[in-house]
Amino acid sequence: MRAQYLAGCDGGRSLVRKAAGIEFPGWDPTTSSLLAQVEMTEEPELGVRRTPSGTHALGKEEYEIVDGEVVYPKGGTVGVMLTESQVGTGEPTLDDLREGLIAVYGTDYGIHGLSWISRFTDMTRQAAEYRKGRVLLAGDAAHVHSPVGGQGLNTGVQDAVNLGWKLAQVIQGTAPESLLDTYHAERHPVAARVLKNTMAQTVLMRPSEPRLDALRDTVGDLLSMDEPHKRYGAMMSGLDIHYDLGEGHPLLGRRMPDLDLVTADGPLRVFALLHAARPVLLNLGEPGGFDIAPWADRVRVVDAGFEGKWELPALGEVEAPGAVLIRPDGYVAWVGDRAQAGLTEALTTWFGPAAA
Ligand SMILES: Cc1cc2nc3c(=O)[nH]c(=O)nc-3n(C[C@H](O)[C@H](O)[C@H](O)COP(=O)(O)OP(=O)(O)OC[C@H]3O[C@@H](n4cnc5c(N)ncnc54)[C@H](O)[C@@H]3O)c2cc1C
Repeated sequence: MRAQYLAGCDGGRSLVRKAAGIEFPGWDPTTSSLLAQVEMTEEPELGVRRTPSGTHALGKEEYEIVDGEVVYPKGGTVGVMLTESQVGTGEPTLDDLREGLIAVYGTDYGIHGLSWISRFTDMTRQAAEYRKGRVLLAGDAAHVHSPVGGQGLNTGVQDAVNLGWKLAQVIQGTAPESLLDTYHAERHPVAARVLKNTMAQTVLMRPSEPRLDALRDTVGDLLSMDEPHKRYGAMMSGLDIHYDLGEGHPLLGRRMPDLDLVTADGPLRVFALLHAARPVLLNLGEPGGFDIAPWADRVRVVDAGFEGKWELPALGEVEAPGAVLIRPDGYVAWVGDRAQAGLTEALTTWFGPAAA
């Protein structure tokens, strides 16, 4: 099979990454956990248990809340998460699970009927290049780390959304190939930050020890304060991402908020404008007056009003802009007004040269 480009979205063990010879530097795992769904002859002790080897949990998919307490039905499938006493490798087995249960609970509860079993670790690695010629990497193929904080899928999906429209424009011939280099430039630092915060969190989750307990308490105190709490929340949800598109209005390089707009055709949410995966020039001032004729085939111009406050995650309130150019991935490529200063440059950078 021949193709103009190859996007490796084939997970942490990515064959595409290996075949392309892209380095995957980082750190080996320090901990591993088994995840499984299994039947048990005996009724297990459900809930979370902490031991010197780490945190473990047994639960059931079905439950009821009665008087504020979780009540599980008798029997049925049990979900198991066990931190292993030593870092496990390879495909996990029912015997690994049995041994792990006995080590933590003193019994295997008569496990049988394994539905599935898997192992995850805190291995932390990132592809040195997200683009090598005509090969691109996205998602776990480009970065692996501990699942703590639930950041992997979000990071991977945002990789794909950042890459998709750029690749489409290059393939259609409306933008130069160099646009693809902005993919690594924008997305590599985002995952590098995820790697850093997951490594820090896995250390905080290690078994109790006086100095570590002191660190945990200190971080806990910091995160109970408004500003750090807000900043870490915005970072772990990916809502604070700021691509370096130069100096200017705080919106530049940040995710456009999903505002309730008023248009001549009625109310409209900003994100509805992005469903077509095409760039939008949103004019929030007097209707009309923007001349972008050479990009008219690529960029949609929308006149709209917005009455509320402009608030960004972590940053808070910002000055209302006159107009914004929104990329198909929802990030703001230009902020200005009818004077259109810098608009031609932004249109050319992101959506290719003016049509002849
Ligand atoms: C226990 C655990 C909990 C997690 N919780 C969260 C969470 O709460 N929130 C969150 O955001 N993330 C979470 N993650 C991370 C998230 O699951 C991953 O980041 C995400 O699934 C990666 O998606 P992906 O498509 O890049 O890779 P994958 O999901 O690994 O998909 C790759 C696909 O490529 C296929 N493939 C691989 N090689 C080939 C080949 N040679 N030929 C054909 N197909 C191939 C595979 O079969 C697979 O379908 C968690 C991960 C774990 C382990």
